[in-house]
Amino acid sequence: MGRRFEDMFDILDYNELMRLKNDFDSGAVALKRLLEENMKKKLKEHEKACATCSSQLNFYKTNNYTLVFGPDDFKKKASFCGLDCLEYFIIKLKDMKTKPKEDNVSNTDYF
Ligand SMILES: [Zn+2]
Repeated sequence: MGRRFEDMFDILDYNELMRLKNDFDSGAVALKRLLEENMKKKLKEHEKACATCSSQLNFYKTNNYTLVFGPDDFKKKASFCGLDCLEYFIIKLKDMKTKPKEDNVSNTDYF
């Protein structure tokens, strides 16, 4: 898990953490619903940073692109600041699909 995930727990106070723990103990139903609602909402938005060059996406620019791929229950999403970055990503993606697995290790985030 990345640092941002840890930060999320840091934001919560003791009582909220206790509620979260209780929810976990009873099968995490509330958390799962909240998670699914948020994922549904975020699926429609661009990501905050470009998946290729990591630059922050300017939400008002018209040349932002977002790619949603993978099976329904394991969908992945990647946003791009322009066609060049999208193209680079697709070329890399094609490479991953055609080349043997050995050099996939460093790209497990998306592939
Ligand atoms: Zn980019």
